[in-house]
Amino acid sequence: MSTSTQPDASSKTSTPWTEAINFLRTPGSPPSFTGDLVFPDSPDYSKSIDRWIASSIRPAGVVAGGGHSAAGASSTSGGLVVDLGRYVNSVVVDVANKTAVVGGGARFKAIEEAIAPFSLAVAAGAVNDTGVGGLSLGGGLGTLMGTTSLVVDNILAATVVLASGEIVRADAESNPDLYWAIRGGGGAFGAVTSFTFRLHDQRPTIGFGIALFETGQLPILMPKIHKWLEVRTPEEMGALACLYMEGKPLLLFLAVYNGPVEVGQQKFGEILETAFTGKDLREIPSSEVNTQLSGFQVRGATKYQTSSVLSKLSEETVAAALKQLDAVHAGERPGLIDIKIMFLLYNWDAASKVDPHGTPFFQRGINQIHLDTEIDYTPGQLSSARDVASAIRRLGGSQISYINFESEDGATQEKKKDERARATFGEENLARLREINAKYDPEKVFRSWFG
Ligand SMILES: Cc1cc2nc3c(=O)[nH]c(=O)nc-3n(C[C@H](O)[C@H](O)[C@H](O)COP(=O)(O)OP(=O)(O)OC[C@H]3O[C@@H](n4cnc5c(N)ncnc54)[C@H](O)[C@@H]3O)c2cc1C
Repeated sequence: MSTSTQPDASSKTSTPWTEAINFLRTPGSPPSFTGDLVFPDSPDYSKSIDRWIASSIRPAGVVAGGGHSAAGASSTSGGLVVDLGRYVNSVVVDVANKTAVVGGGARFKAIEEAIAPFSLAVAAGAVNDTGVGGLSLGGGLGTLMGTTSLVVDNILAATVVLASGEIVRADAESNPDLYWAIRGGGGAFGAVTSFTFRLHDQRPTIGFGIALFETGQLPILMPKIHKWLEVRTPEEMGALACLYMEGKPLLLFLAVYNGPVEVGQQKFGEILETAFTGKDLREIPSSEVNTQLSGFQVRGATKYQTSSVLSKLSEETVAAALKQLDAVHAGERPGLIDIKIMFLLYNWDAASKVDPHGTPFFQRGINQIHLDTEIDYTPGQLSSARDVASAIRRLGGSQISYINFESEDGATQEKKKDERARATFGEENLARLREINAKYDPEKVFRSWFG
């Protein structure tokens, strides 16, 4: 949704960033600028630097013009943030060609609302309040990806403002290297002011369920989940979460079936039958599937997030995650308030058919499971959150990450940034990303996850 400069220019002395900010403070400059320049002394400065995750808020020197990144990737201390969310957020749908041209600062909610009357769907994340920009550039995992594939696989073209100020098109014919890089390499290449997305035919309703289990039911639940994973079709997606609700640890199973609810009920029936609540799928409008989880994600937390990838889900791994959950809630991890550990059973049917070198998004294994950990901590207790996140991360047994769920801080602190980038992008893709980055952003104006 926004782009930000890399350096933490704490504005002590003159840096390129303080010089740029001083220039912007000069009345009448830049001459052709339209939008809002928000400085630390502007009335809406606090609102401008506000972020979904409170610990991602940083004191930018100027905000020219929102952000969900847990890594604080759209925030900067003393530098410049270009906020596309305020004005660059239009959605234009071409129903006949099943495409949408979307402003780089729009949110997925705006696209989903615009296409709903036409029985169309867009590949998107599971919470449609997220920004199109960050989520799409980093990959885009979501509820319908078993049939639509990743968001990056649906980007047909983009308009990019480069660090040089040049405005270029990126698609299969124009600047194909840039087109390749923005489909999974993040916001390191320029500010994407528009995306053209492929849309998909979509039935009007979806089967959706959230079932809760006692943690003691894990041994009964796991074989059923394994059985389901072996036979599931591209229309089925699930997730298993370890979390605290109403004062006790619980297992939550999310079930999504992109088809008739009665069929979905049969598909998930065996898993859901032992739930103490949520045995039945609900039929919901398809356009609302990515609004259902909004209540589980609270804005304004001081949060640390980490991600890893598992090649299989075992009862032992989930039991180890539950131990961490218990330890946090028993007060054995001082400074930690809450923790959610999610085993995301995304459906990789469509994504695994795309060449892993066709975009930077390399890890497309059909059986991979994303382990996403979110820890709410007391301000000042970051190191405690980081330690627990690292312990859970190790359950994954690999350095593979999803860049949109990963705190840059974790990789840096663990001195694993390079190793993680290699595992995540693969050696060949990483080398290509670095080469293309050096071509389009030689002075590293934009923040890069891969160094
Ligand atoms: C509640 C919640 C639910 C989520 N669910 C999912 C999910 O289901 N699937 C999934 O894949 N991810 C999910 N995510 C993670 C999400 O992909 C990242 O948080 C992502 O960074 C959000 O993008 P944003 O534009 O809102 O973020 P921002 O914080 O605004 O930006 C993130 C990064 O992208 C860059 N960027 C943003 N827009 C542009 C642009 N137009 N041009 C260039 N660079 C840009 C920014 O500079 C920054 O580096 C979720 C996050 C949250 C908080």
